[in-house]
Amino acid sequence: MVPCLKEDPELWYSDAAVAQHAARELCETCPLTVPCREAGRQGREFGIWGGESTIERARLGYAPVGYHANHRLKDIAPARP
Ligand code: SF4
Repeated sequence: MVPCLKEDPELWYSDAAVAQHAARELCETCPLTVPCREAGRQGREFGIWGGESTIERARLGYAPVGYHANHRLKDIAPARP
């Protein structure tokens, strides 16, 4: 069974850094990491999918519908060197 079906699902949908870190670590142990990450992108999902967060997907052009309206542009703009 994949980790997100065994553990508290709130870890994958929390805004708290500690919870997101725990979810990412669990995703790293999952055999579905790569296809799950792609499904999160293509589905423009919220939460941690395949170890990737909503904001990370948004930076790659896979923001959930309505995400831009609810988040400041500086939060999703690519980091500048
Ligand atoms: S990679 Fe996907 S299926 Fe696996 S634990 Fe993470 S969110 Fe769940």
